[in-house]
Amino acid sequence: MLKLKNVKSCFTPNSIQEAIDILKKSDGKAVIVGGGLDITVFPNPIIEQFIFLNKLGLTYIREDDENIKIGATSTITDIAKAPVMQNYLKSKVKIALTEIASEPLRNQITMGGSIARHHFYSDIIPALYASRAKIMISDGELVEEFFVDDFYHNDLKALMETHIVVGVHLNKYGDSFQFGTKRFVRNATDIALLNMAMLVQIEEDIIKDVSISVGSRPGPAYRFEKGEAFLRGKKLTKALAEDFESFTKSNVDVAKDMRLSKEYRQHIAGIYAKEILLDFIGGAR
Ligand SMILES: Cc1cc2nc3c(=O)[nH]c(=O)nc-3n(C[C@H](O)[C@H](O)[C@H](O)COP(=O)(O)OP(=O)(O)OC[C@H]3O[C@@H](n4cnc5c(N)ncnc54)[C@H](O)[C@@H]3O)c2cc1C
Repeated sequence: MLKLKNVKSCFTPNSIQEAIDILKKSDGKAVIVGGGLDITVFPNPIIEQFIFLNKLGLTYIREDDENIKIGATSTITDIAKAPVMQNYLKSKVKIALTEIASEPLRNQITMGGSIARHHFYSDIIPALYASRAKIMISDGELVEEFFVDDFYHNDLKALMETHIVVGVHLNKYGDSFQFGTKRFVRNATDIALLNMAMLVQIEEDIIKDVSISVGSRPGPAYRFEKGEAFLRGKKLTKALAEDFESFTKSNVDVAKDMRLSKEYRQHIAGIYAKEILLDFIGGAR
């Protein structure tokens, strides 16, 4: 925070309404603070006010009959350690979370900050797409619920000028569902050069339902619907996983950037698509 030399006030509002009022009145000079990572790594000299959400009771992970509910100020560590996450989707979400970045960063990265910042390399957003998460936002009066797919069709910058992310709801899935993620990094603490998350419903070896998301491609994470259509209704076998590798290589929407060529991203995406499916065959045994 020391890099932000023009900051004059720190607010700890007692309600979402109060937070939104400060945000709206600030004329773009206030910023909501999640874990504060982006705000400090990319200091914006315009910022004069911090709005901390600590008093809003948004650090929680709880469940009801249908959902696991995660508050916006919960960190990756909070979520990975929460009792309700230990067996969620056969522990695969918890494992995926503990593979992101490094422990000190996981202790700071919040769910709300990750959603609002929408980094194209985020490992959280593909997991939210694949698990068909619902994002909850509030303008202080109403809480609105968006499927993650719909949420990112909004003008995010404009939306975040009048709303805050208050949480995420993860659907509870039955035993027929399997979840997997992969992230391609040169070393464990790098941001991913490509990442993938997949949720598959398998009944009597048939893929009944599937959602796949690819991120850090290098564009924003997206639903790989062509891949989903390819798999839906097919019998999950080793041969299918191998076919899916070549299908993914040819059909995944990736591009080049200074870090990786398009061809290499296609290659990695194909391998990951196959490996995640093979893990599901192993996991189903
Ligand atoms: C060195 C480094 C490596 C990283 N590696 C990875 C990685 O490999 N994978 C990965 O997924 N992430 C990674 N991250 C995290 C990622 O880059 C962002 O820093 C993180 O997602 C932002 O989280 P935060 O809680 O710190 O948000 P902040 O920095 O506090 O906020 C980010 C933005 O979101 C806004 N905001 C925060 N909370 C809310 C809210 N509740 N409602 C509305 N707006 C809000 C803020 O105003 C700000 O504009 C890394 C970060 C660092 C610094």
